[in-house]
Amino acid sequence: MSRATGSASRCPYNARTGMDDLFTRIQAFFGQERELFGEAVLMGPRSLHKQPSPPPEPGNAGELTLFGPAPAGIRVTKERWGSAQSIDELDREINTCLKCSLGHTRTKFVFGVGNPKATLLLIGEAPGADEDAQGEPFVGRAGQLLNKILQAIHFRREDVYICNILKCRPPGNRKPAAEEVDQCLPYLQKQIELIKPRLIVCLGLTAVENLLGTTESLTALRGRVLRYEGIPLMVTYHPAALLRNPNWKRPAWEDVQAIRKLHDELQQQEPTG
Ligand code: URA
Repeated sequence: MSRATGSASRCPYNARTGMDDLFTRIQAFFGQERELFGEAVLMGPRSLHKQPSPPPEPGNAGELTLFGPAPAGIRVTKERWGSAQSIDELDREINTCLKCSLGHTRTKFVFGVGNPKATLLLIGEAPGADEDAQGEPFVGRAGQLLNKILQAIHFRREDVYICNILKCRPPGNRKPAAEEVDQCLPYLQKQIELIKPRLIVCLGLTAVENLLGTTESLTALRGRVLRYEGIPLMVTYHPAALLRNPNWKRPAWEDVQAIRKLHDELQQQEPTG
Protein backbone atom coordinates (compact mmCIF):
# COMPACT_ATOMS: atom_id res chain seq x y z
CA MET A 1 0.00 0.00 0.00
CA SER A 2 1.34 3.43 -0.89
CA ARG A 3 1.87 6.00 1.85
CA ALA A 4 -0.80 8.25 0.36
CA THR A 5 -3.41 5.48 0.39
CA GLY A 6 -2.39 4.53 3.91
CA SER A 7 -2.81 8.03 5.28
CA ALA A 8 -6.13 8.43 3.45
CA SER A 9 -7.47 5.30 5.08
CA ARG A 10 -6.44 6.57 8.51
CA CYS A 11 -8.01 9.98 7.80
CA PRO A 12 -11.52 9.67 6.30
CA TYR A 13 -12.36 12.27 3.65
CA ASN A 14 -14.84 14.26 5.78
CA ALA A 15 -12.56 14.48 8.77
CA ARG A 16 -9.69 15.68 6.57
CA THR A 17 -11.71 18.41 4.84
CA GLY A 18 -13.06 19.40 8.25
CA MET A 19 -9.49 19.75 9.51
CA ASP A 20 -8.51 21.76 6.40
CA ASP A 21 -11.46 24.06 6.96
CA LEU A 22 -10.59 24.51 10.64
CA PHE A 23 -6.97 25.20 9.76
CA THR A 24 -8.00 27.80 7.14
CA ARG A 25 -10.25 29.50 9.67
CA ILE A 26 -7.52 29.52 12.33
CA GLN A 27 -5.09 31.05 9.80
CA ALA A 28 -7.64 33.75 8.84
CA PHE A 29 -8.26 34.52 12.53
CA PHE A 30 -4.56 34.96 13.27
CA GLY A 31 -4.12 37.06 10.12
CA GLN A 32 -6.80 39.44 11.36
CA GLU A 33 -5.35 39.54 14.87
CA ARG A 34 -1.94 40.35 13.43
CA GLU A 35 -3.39 43.21 11.35
CA LEU A 36 -5.12 44.68 14.38
CA PHE A 37 -2.82 44.02 17.28
CA GLY A 38 0.59 43.31 15.81
CA GLU A 39 3.12 40.58 16.49
CA ALA A 40 3.27 41.30 20.20
CA VAL A 41 -0.14 39.75 20.91
CA LEU A 42 0.44 36.66 18.79
CA MET A 43 4.07 35.95 19.28
CA GLY A 44 4.39 36.88 22.94
CA PRO A 45 7.99 36.63 24.09
CA ARG A 46 9.41 36.72 20.51
CA SER A 47 8.50 40.38 20.30
CA LEU A 48 10.61 40.97 23.40
CA HIS A 49 13.70 40.05 21.42
CA LYS A 50 13.10 42.88 19.01
CA GLN A 51 14.61 46.28 19.64
CA PRO A 52 11.88 48.53 21.04
CA SER A 53 11.14 51.50 18.83
CA PRO A 54 12.11 54.89 20.25
CA PRO A 55 9.27 56.68 22.01
CA PRO A 56 7.67 59.45 19.99
CA GLU A 57 9.19 62.82 20.67
CA PRO A 58 6.84 65.16 22.48
CA GLY A 59 5.18 67.41 19.94
CA ASN A 60 4.27 71.02 20.51
CA ALA A 61 0.65 71.89 19.87
CA GLY A 62 -0.05 71.85 16.14
CA GLU A 63 3.24 70.16 15.29
CA LEU A 64 3.63 66.72 13.81
CA THR A 65 4.56 64.02 16.29
CA LEU A 66 8.01 62.84 15.36
CA PHE A 67 8.77 59.17 15.36
CA GLY A 68 12.49 59.40 14.78
CA PRO A 69 14.52 57.74 12.05
CA ALA A 70 14.03 54.12 11.07
CA PRO A 71 16.17 52.07 13.48
CA ALA A 72 17.55 50.05 10.57
CA GLY A 73 18.69 53.27 8.88
CA ILE A 74 19.29 53.58 5.16
CA ARG A 75 22.03 51.37 3.91
CA VAL A 76 24.51 52.90 1.53
CA THR A 77 25.23 50.65 -1.43
CA LYS A 78 27.98 50.60 -4.01
CA GLU A 79 25.77 48.59 -6.39
CA ARG A 80 24.83 50.32 -9.66
CA TRP A 81 21.17 50.74 -8.78
CA GLY A 82 22.21 52.89 -5.79
CA SER A 83 23.15 55.73 -8.13
CA ALA A 84 20.00 55.52 -10.29
CA GLN A 85 18.75 59.00 -11.15
CA SER A 86 15.17 58.08 -12.02
CA ILE A 87 12.49 55.58 -11.15
CA ASP A 88 12.73 54.01 -14.63
CA GLU A 89 16.49 53.63 -14.32
CA LEU A 90 16.10 52.04 -10.88
CA ASP A 91 13.49 49.63 -12.26
CA ARG A 92 15.82 48.61 -15.10
CA GLU A 93 18.70 48.06 -12.67
CA ILE A 94 16.85 45.90 -10.14
CA ASN A 95 14.10 44.01 -11.96
CA THR A 96 16.27 40.97 -12.57
CA CYS A 97 17.15 40.71 -8.87
CA LEU A 98 17.93 37.23 -7.52
CA LYS A 99 19.18 38.24 -4.08
CA CYS A 100 16.64 36.12 -2.22
CA SER A 101 14.82 32.91 -3.03
CA LEU A 102 11.69 34.80 -4.16
CA GLY A 103 13.57 35.83 -7.28
CA HIS A 104 13.53 32.18 -8.31
CA THR A 105 9.82 31.59 -7.67
CA ARG A 106 8.31 34.85 -8.98
CA THR A 107 6.56 35.17 -12.32
CA LYS A 108 7.09 38.93 -12.56
CA PHE A 109 9.05 41.45 -10.55
CA VAL A 110 6.57 43.99 -9.13
CA PHE A 111 8.52 47.23 -9.00
CA GLY A 112 5.70 49.74 -8.40
CA VAL A 113 3.27 51.84 -10.39
CA GLY A 114 2.12 55.41 -10.68
CA ASN A 115 3.43 58.92 -10.98
CA PRO A 116 7.21 59.05 -10.33
CA LYS A 117 6.66 62.57 -8.96
CA ALA A 118 3.69 61.58 -6.80
CA THR A 119 3.02 63.57 -3.66
CA LEU A 120 1.35 60.53 -2.08
CA LEU A 121 3.13 57.18 -1.81
CA LEU A 122 1.21 54.07 -0.73
CA ILE A 123 3.12 51.04 0.52
CA GLY A 124 1.65 47.55 0.85
CA GLU A 125 3.14 44.25 1.95
CA ALA A 126 4.07 42.12 -1.05
CA PRO A 127 2.63 41.06 -4.40
CA GLY A 128 -0.08 38.41 -4.40
CA ALA A 129 -0.95 35.98 -7.21
CA ASP A 130 -2.57 38.60 -9.49
CA GLU A 131 0.27 41.05 -9.00
CA ASP A 132 2.86 38.32 -9.61
CA ALA A 133 1.10 37.43 -12.87
CA GLN A 134 0.72 41.03 -14.10
CA GLY A 135 3.84 42.69 -12.67
CA GLU A 136 1.83 45.52 -11.09
CA PRO A 137 0.98 46.10 -7.41
CA PHE A 138 -2.58 46.01 -6.12
CA VAL A 139 -4.39 44.73 -9.19
CA GLY A 140 -6.37 41.92 -7.48
CA ARG A 141 -9.43 42.23 -5.21
CA ALA A 142 -7.53 44.26 -2.62
CA GLY A 143 -6.34 46.50 -5.44
CA GLN A 144 -9.89 47.09 -6.68
CA LEU A 145 -10.84 48.18 -3.17
CA LEU A 146 -7.76 50.39 -2.94
CA ASN A 147 -8.81 52.09 -6.20
CA LYS A 148 -12.27 52.78 -4.72
CA ILE A 149 -10.73 54.15 -1.51
CA LEU A 150 -8.49 56.46 -3.55
CA GLN A 151 -11.46 57.62 -5.65
CA ALA A 152 -13.46 58.32 -2.49
CA ILE A 153 -10.80 60.81 -1.36
CA HIS A 154 -10.41 62.22 -4.89
CA PHE A 155 -7.09 60.68 -5.87
CA ARG A 156 -6.60 58.93 -9.19
CA ARG A 157 -4.49 55.77 -9.14
CA GLU A 158 -2.24 57.25 -11.81
CA ASP A 159 -1.50 60.35 -9.72
CA VAL A 160 -0.19 58.51 -6.66
CA TYR A 161 2.62 55.95 -6.47
CA ILE A 162 1.93 52.42 -5.24
CA CYS A 163 4.51 49.83 -4.23
CA ASN A 164 5.25 47.16 -1.65
CA ILE A 165 7.82 46.22 0.96
CA LEU A 166 8.73 43.19 -1.20
CA LYS A 167 8.99 43.24 -5.00
CA CYS A 168 8.39 39.51 -5.43
CA ARG A 169 5.55 37.29 -4.28
CA PRO A 170 6.14 35.11 -1.22
CA PRO A 171 4.75 31.64 -2.06
CA GLY A 172 1.25 31.17 -0.71
CA ASN A 173 1.12 34.88 0.18
CA ARG A 174 2.91 34.21 3.46
CA LYS A 175 4.28 37.10 5.48
CA PRO A 176 7.65 38.43 4.20
CA ALA A 177 10.60 36.73 5.89
CA ALA A 178 13.22 38.89 7.63
CA GLU A 179 15.96 38.00 5.14
CA GLU A 180 13.68 38.88 2.20
CA VAL A 181 12.93 42.27 3.76
CA ASP A 182 16.65 42.84 4.43
CA GLN A 183 17.42 42.36 0.74
CA CYS A 184 14.43 44.24 -0.67
CA LEU A 185 13.94 47.21 1.67
CA PRO A 186 16.91 49.18 0.27
CA TYR A 187 15.11 49.21 -3.12
CA LEU A 188 12.05 50.77 -1.52
CA GLN A 189 14.23 53.27 0.33
CA LYS A 190 15.77 54.28 -3.00
CA GLN A 191 12.30 54.59 -4.57
CA ILE A 192 11.28 56.95 -1.76
CA GLU A 193 14.49 58.96 -2.22
CA LEU A 194 13.70 59.39 -5.94
CA ILE A 195 9.96 60.05 -5.65
CA LYS A 196 10.27 62.40 -2.66
CA PRO A 197 6.60 62.11 -1.70
CA ARG A 198 5.00 64.68 0.57
CA LEU A 199 3.21 61.92 2.47
CA ILE A 200 3.69 58.17 2.84
CA VAL A 201 0.80 55.86 3.72
CA CYS A 202 1.53 52.37 4.99
CA LEU A 203 -1.24 49.89 4.22
CA GLY A 204 -1.27 47.45 7.12
CA LEU A 205 1.08 46.56 9.88
CA THR A 206 3.69 44.68 7.83
CA ALA A 207 4.46 47.79 5.78
CA VAL A 208 4.96 50.10 8.76
CA GLU A 209 6.76 47.49 10.88
CA ASN A 210 9.35 46.97 8.19
CA LEU A 211 9.74 50.55 7.04
CA LEU A 212 10.00 52.13 10.49
CA GLY A 213 11.17 49.14 12.50
CA THR A 214 8.35 49.67 14.98
CA THR A 215 6.78 46.86 17.01
CA GLU A 216 3.69 48.86 17.97
CA SER A 217 0.26 47.56 17.00
CA LEU A 218 -1.81 48.93 14.15
CA THR A 219 -4.31 50.19 16.71
CA ALA A 220 -1.56 52.20 18.40
CA LEU A 221 -0.17 53.55 15.11
CA ARG A 222 -3.38 54.58 13.33
CA GLY A 223 -4.35 58.22 13.59
CA ARG A 224 -0.80 59.40 14.33
CA VAL A 225 1.56 61.29 12.06
CA LEU A 226 4.84 59.38 12.09
CA ARG A 227 7.92 60.14 10.02
CA TYR A 228 10.22 58.26 7.70
CA GLU A 229 13.44 60.18 7.04
CA GLY A 230 11.58 63.41 7.78
CA ILE A 231 8.64 62.56 5.49
CA PRO A 232 5.25 62.46 7.26
CA LEU A 233 3.80 58.95 7.32
CA MET A 234 0.38 57.65 8.28
CA VAL A 235 -0.92 54.14 8.66
CA THR A 236 -4.25 52.54 7.84
CA TYR A 237 -5.70 49.08 7.35
CA HIS A 238 -4.55 46.94 4.46
CA PRO A 239 -7.40 46.71 1.89
CA ALA A 240 -7.28 42.90 2.14
CA ALA A 241 -8.01 43.24 5.86
CA LEU A 242 -11.02 45.41 5.01
CA LEU A 243 -12.30 42.71 2.65
CA ARG A 244 -12.10 40.20 5.50
CA ASN A 245 -13.53 42.59 8.08
CA PRO A 246 -16.06 45.05 6.67
CA ASN A 247 -16.47 46.44 10.23
CA TRP A 248 -13.09 48.11 9.82
CA LYS A 249 -14.28 50.11 6.80
CA ARG A 250 -15.67 52.92 8.96
CA PRO A 251 -12.42 53.50 10.93
CA ALA A 252 -10.52 53.15 7.64
CA TRP A 253 -12.73 55.87 6.16
CA GLU A 254 -11.73 58.15 9.06
CA ASP A 255 -8.07 57.31 8.42
CA VAL A 256 -8.21 58.16 4.75
CA GLN A 257 -10.02 61.42 5.34
CA ALA A 258 -7.26 62.41 7.78
CA ILE A 259 -4.71 61.32 5.15
CA ARG A 260 -6.35 63.51 2.48
CA LYS A 261 -6.47 66.48 4.89
CA LEU A 262 -2.81 66.14 5.89
CA HIS A 263 -1.78 65.68 2.25
CA ASP A 264 -3.53 68.92 1.30
CA GLU A 265 -1.98 70.78 4.23
CA LEU A 266 1.47 69.53 3.23
CA GLN A 267 0.83 70.68 -0.35
CA GLN A 268 0.35 74.23 0.93
CA GLN A 269 3.90 74.21 2.26
CA GLU A 270 7.05 75.21 0.37
CA PRO A 271 7.77 72.99 -2.64
CA THR A 272 10.26 70.19 -1.99
CA GLY A 273 13.56 70.22 -3.95
N1 URA B 1 -1.35 43.05 -1.19
C1 URA B 1 -0.24 43.81 -1.07
O1 URA B 1 0.21 44.09 0.02
N2 URA B 1 0.32 44.25 -2.18
C2 URA B 1 -0.14 44.01 -3.39
O2 URA B 1 0.45 44.47 -4.37
C3 URA B 1 -1.29 43.22 -3.49
C4 URA B 1 -1.88 42.75 -2.39
